[in-house]
Amino acid sequence: MLGREITELIRAPLFDLRFPSPDGERTMAKVLGMKCRECGEEYPVAPTHVCELCFGPLEVVLNWAEITPRVTRQSIEAGPKSMWRYWDLLPVEGQPTVGKNVGYTPLVKAERLGRELGLNNLYIKNDAVNHPTLSFKDRVVACALTKAREFGYETVACASTGNLANSVAAHAAEGGFKSYVFIPSDLEQGKILGALIYGTNVLAVEGNYDEVNRLCAEAGDRYGWAFVNINLRPFYGDGSKTFGYEIAEQLGWKAPDHVIVPCAGGSLVTKIHKGLNEFDRLGLLDGGVPTKMYGAQATGCSPITTAIKNNAEFVRPQRPNTIARSIAIGNPADGYHALDVIRKSGGWAEDVDDDEMIEGIKLLGRTEGIFTETAGGVTVMVTKKLAEQGRFGKDDIVVIAITGNGLKTQEAVQGKIGATIGIQPNLASLDAALHTEKLLVNA
Ligand SMILES: *Cc1c(COP(=O)(O)O)cnc(C)c1O
Ligand SMILES: [Zn+2]
Repeated sequence: MLGREITELIRAPLFDLRFPSPDGERTMAKVLGMKCRECGEEYPVAPTHVCELCFGPLEVVLNWAEITPRVTRQSIEAGPKSMWRYWDLLPVEGQPTVGKNVGYTPLVKAERLGRELGLNNLYIKNDAVNHPTLSFKDRVVACALTKAREFGYETVACASTGNLANSVAAHAAEGGFKSYVFIPSDLEQGKILGALIYGTNVLAVEGNYDEVNRLCAEAGDRYGWAFVNINLRPFYGDGSKTFGYEIAEQLGWKAPDHVIVPCAGGSLVTKIHKGLNEFDRLGLLDGGVPTKMYGAQATGCSPITTAIKNNAEFVRPQRPNTIARSIAIGNPADGYHALDVIRKSGGWAEDVDDDEMIEGIKLLGRTEGIFTETAGGVTVMVTKKLAEQGRFGKDDIVVIAITGNGLKTQEAVQGKIGATIGIQPNLASLDAALHTEKLLVNA
């Protein structure tokens, strides 16, 4: 492989190498190289994401010969209670340098929501409580910034719909990187504040995400920063595999029948599936991977679900118009791949409008006690829609990917939920209020 020497040159002084060779001297890299998903051209390990020949996306090539004998259910179970229990399967050579506590979020059996949807085995994978910034993006950032440090970067950046900015800013602070996060200027207050608090540079761009992303591609070339979702995209994306690994491990080493995933750039839906298939290939699963993948989007920005529903070969870019800002990407970088994974897995895709999305946020809150953001409202209601379409057997294992926290998108439900009941601090006032409001069932 042409990249081997370069890889070792970059790697040698920096990493705690984990693969001693039989002679105990030389070591093997865990990441062998990069490969174009479209034409198969191979490249050395580097902070790059596009094929020079066909402009296809590059993926990380792992050293499976070295990895496979190391990974067992027991080896994983003995690991830390974080995404780094899957360290062997992540594209970094050394130990994590940022985000050591990311991941291993709860998989909740959703009995009450399940009853409403007519599903006996419904689960919520709850990344609304991911550490430290309350969204699944902490996974991709922990992986990308650990890699950025291995590549020797001191400055990190991202183009973001909000959650990625929060996570890059937090992890940059933790790791002592300089950081620049680019967002559309009209994002939710919670997302803007949730970036500024970490002392990062927030560039609020007057434009939508797709315009932000275009600017960032040019900025990356000019300033030489590590843009986690651009030049580090192959490493960023693989962080999402841990979402899939955790679902399978937490189900007792079993892949679910269906997973419903909110789609923005379309990466997460593909990486959950990739993670499940890697587990299968390692012999960790009972029953293989029967899993059908489903994409969920807001109708106001639905390039992926529209392509699925129209049976179109390609994603047609849209101009986003929805309050689900975190998933409002009109021209998804992994759109084509997402279509492919959804179709080949036998899944489907659906979208819901902004009013339905708010119903979804409230439904999850009142049935399961989980407050999700707009993207989660979309995913819950898309699951309801798919259930009504008869796509799930009532005993099938169905997992909803809840990827972000409602405290960051409070505007969405402001004025659309119950109001407080004002009273004086005495029983008479309480009595009166409960009677007028007819709140006592037995009164
Ligand atoms: C980024 C994001 C997604 C989707 O991520 P992609 O991998 O780009 O499809 C889903 N939910 C939330 C809350 C996000 O922030
Ligand atoms: Zn190529």
